[in-house]
Amino acid sequence: MSDRRKFILNMARGIGITALGGFVWSAYVEEAIASPLLLRPPGAIKEVDFLKTCIKCGLCVEACPYDTLLLAKPGDNKPLGTPYFIPREIPCYMCPDIPCVPVCPTGALDESSVTTNGELDINVAQMGVAVVDDSSCIAFWGIQCDACYRACPLLGEAISIVYEKNERTGKHAFMKPIVHTDICTGCGLCEKACVTEKAAIFVLPREVALGRAGDYYIKGWDKEDDKRVKNAHAIKTKTRLSKENALDSLNDSGDLY
Ligand code: SF4
Ligand code: SF4
Ligand code: SF4
Repeated sequence: MSDRRKFILNMARGIGITALGGFVWSAYVEEAIASPLLLRPPGAIKEVDFLKTCIKCGLCVEACPYDTLLLAKPGDNKPLGTPYFIPREIPCYMCPDIPCVPVCPTGALDESSVTTNGELDINVAQMGVAVVDDSSCIAFWGIQCDACYRACPLLGEAISIVYEKNERTGKHAFMKPIVHTDICTGCGLCEKACVTEKAAIFVLPREVALGRAGDYYIKGWDKEDDKRVKNAHAIKTKTRLSKENALDSLNDSGDLY
């Protein structure tokens, strides 16, 4: 077991905190709430619950055959002892058997969130979501590049190449990478492969990268989404019927206007 791992295990078990002194403890408290931009292993539960549930044992880190996962150490400005990864350095290679998840003893990595029809399924992992910076992606400049598209393990599903006429040259086409956020797992293989000096495609936690339209907006052309309107109507109708059966206090009091 590495010294770093021993140190973190001791701290998690509450051993040696006194000996380590106030410096480490204050760093722990400070770093326990740091950085909302961390990318967690596959199956990680909601960050706020993850911080309460992960016992910093490092078993997921040890199980990863690619050394993707790191344990935060003092000075990393990340919650101490918790696992994370940096895709530009080592992305998640999306192991089909997801060895990092079942070893988690506390459920901080939740197998059910990476399971389809009773089988582990890394393709449904939601570690984050890839975002393209169109001002630094050279494909948006008109230079041909599809490195991210080719690197994606969900080839042709999580990233599409969209063709557009290049009005500037008149004879070339833009071939722009577009990420499908519902499919992207956040593995970061695209970020690792990106050819620009600083990656023009990068993975962010889903909570950070994605907006939320809210209940007021319905996709009328999408049957699943359209059901929400019907459900809302059913709830209203039910409410009205029950009111009809009851004493209408507004009418009773004459307080109509
Ligand atoms: S799925 Fe594989 S590569 Fe990805 S973090 Fe888990 S063990 Fe490592
Ligand atoms: S992070 Fe990139 S490579 Fe991984 S699934 Fe998403 S688009 Fe594909
Ligand atoms: S690899 Fe990078 S520069 Fe190339 S298309 Fe993808 S995001 Fe753009």
